[in-house]
Amino acid sequence: MTFALISDIHSNLAALQAVIDDIEKRGVKDTFCLGDIVGYGPKPKECLDLLVEKGIVSIMGNHDHAVFYEPTNFNIGAERASYWTRQCLEDEKDRQKRNSRWMFLGRLPVRLEKGNIILVHGSPRRPVNEYIFPDDIYTNTGKIGAVFERVKHLCFVGHTHVPGVFLEDPDFYGVDELENVYTISDAERAIINVGSVGQPRDQDVRACYVLVNESQVEFVRVEYDVEATAKMIMANPNLDNFEGERLLDGR
Ligand code: ZN
Repeated sequence: MTFALISDIHSNLAALQAVIDDIEKRGVKDTFCLGDIVGYGPKPKECLDLLVEKGIVSIMGNHDHAVFYEPTNFNIGAERASYWTRQCLEDEKDRQKRNSRWMFLGRLPVRLEKGNIILVHGSPRRPVNEYIFPDDIYTNTGKIGAVFERVKHLCFVGHTHVPGVFLEDPDFYGVDELENVYTISDAERAIINVGSVGQPRDQDVRACYVLVNESQVEFVRVEYDVEATAKMIMANPNLDNFEGERLLDGR
């Protein structure tokens, strides 16, 4: 059992392409996307098309939900990006392309289960919108308990853009502490955040994804042209400059 998990692409095509190239180079056949394909970034249509072209099974993130339905608890920059993304998809002249992208977005499931593994964007309790933050292990142990009640063995999430491993204790291990590899024992339960392809927030600007090989979970970082995406965002009057600046610092 070998597969790759990507998440939080946020319309960053250069990052997505670099990650897909890396996965293909390793000969990994199955890739799943944990949502937030769009939002924040400059290339929503292209990212959707690339996932479809590669046959990558995806679930719905809060930004995908925002574009298809409506933004929920978004800050102004995120909301503006959602409405611009929607306009971008609407403005597509090719009717077939336009419809198939909307259909793809609207049909994204909010959760996938494979045996004792759950894939969601946010949390197993509220799959689209709930954040599980590293600090929750100190400040919100009730939340950690409640989300772990819904985990049989493994749950993979995205949403915070901070990669790492949550254990029931409760505990959280970031990727530096893990030196990018975590080995899961059969008996334990873990919630694993796969990080973000297109907008990392752990002070590492490189795209992040996860490779699962039997019981081994590896966090992989891939370089891409961060500045090119940042420039594209800053050149787009509908996207806040901050969304570009944060890419340059990984925050
Ligand atoms: Zn996100």
